[in-house]
Amino acid sequence: MPSEIKTDVVIVGAGPTGLASAMYTARDRYDTVVLEKLVPGGQINNTDRIENFPGFKMISGSDLAVAQYEQATAFGAKIKVGVQAQALARRDDGLIEVKTNEDTFLARVVILSPGSDFRKLGVPGEDKFRSAGSGVSYCGMCDAPFFRDKTVVTVGGGNTAVEDTIHLSRFAKKVIMVHRRDEFRATKILVEELLEEEKKGVIEIKYDSVITSINGDNSVGSATIQNVKTKESHDVDCDGVFIFIGHVPNTKWLEGTLDLNEQGFIKCDPQFFRTQIPGVFVAGDCRVGAAMQLATAVGDGVTVAVFMKEYFRDPQWWNKNNAVI
Ligand code: NDP
Repeated sequence: MPSEIKTDVVIVGAGPTGLASAMYTARDRYDTVVLEKLVPGGQINNTDRIENFPGFKMISGSDLAVAQYEQATAFGAKIKVGVQAQALARRDDGLIEVKTNEDTFLARVVILSPGSDFRKLGVPGEDKFRSAGSGVSYCGMCDAPFFRDKTVVTVGGGNTAVEDTIHLSRFAKKVIMVHRRDEFRATKILVEELLEEEKKGVIEIKYDSVITSINGDNSVGSATIQNVKTKESHDVDCDGVFIFIGHVPNTKWLEGTLDLNEQGFIKCDPQFFRTQIPGVFVAGDCRVGAAMQLATAVGDGVTVAVFMKEYFRDPQWWNKNNAVI
């Protein structure tokens, strides 16, 4: 039987951002509940190598997730796994109501850090082969071992695409990387590493190219690649297609409740990350203007946990210096 649970702070999403907020708010002795629809850690669970988180020369995403989880819960944060926030509303008494697939939570402050999902390519065959073992994947770190000595195609030119293409080349016999431009979005150091790896012969990069369909019977057998400049198409035989073309924020459930931009990112003021609903902050990759870095996502989580106390001291603070963008 669903019940109504009162708390000081509800945090939606237990990724690095939400766990950083939870560590701060729980340590400040605020009753803190974190709602997580899947597993704590979010997207970083898919990264086995983080080299740009201050203080760590190298740490795996799952190790960092576990460390953050343990730190937050040690201070008393309650993390509810398998609980998905479904609706948000501010009541007349100023409390924020968060409805979930289980209980309803009533909080003085809500911190939204729901992160994002994999962006889809939207080509024929993508959905058909998405189920486990069929050959379409969005996570190189998770699925690379299934493609040992096989041929795979990767799509994208950002940090994820570059890192995961290199990772896949340690397993597959051939990795064909398809990027729609002739310049990478990924950081220079990663691109340099990719180009070095390409010289070893496992990775082949196809610039100015897109995938127009993923083909096969019961599993992926080939992909159709088109050069966007010459418009020429050809099929390459492959056993899998890995799609690394970014993320879409998990904010669909907030449409009509909060101001979102065209891509679905939550609008907020650039200094304190206040949304247009008093008491509702946003932090991390799902807000407009986010730098989309692990360190900045964690920084967002800390920022809202600190400035939340201004709102507790004086609710009128919400409207001071506020310019929601
Ligand atoms: P990004 O948004 O950075 O890159 C997406 C890539 O996919 C771009 O190259 C883009 O091309 C391409 N793309 C987008 N849509 C399509 C499409 N429909 N068809 C073909 N190609 C498409 O996403 P990432 O997942 O790589 O990274 C997300 C964030 O996480 C970034 O801020 C990144 O820096 C960060 N990150 C950091 C890491 C690290 O620091 N170690 C590791 C992984 C991620 P185009 O460039 O032409 O737009």
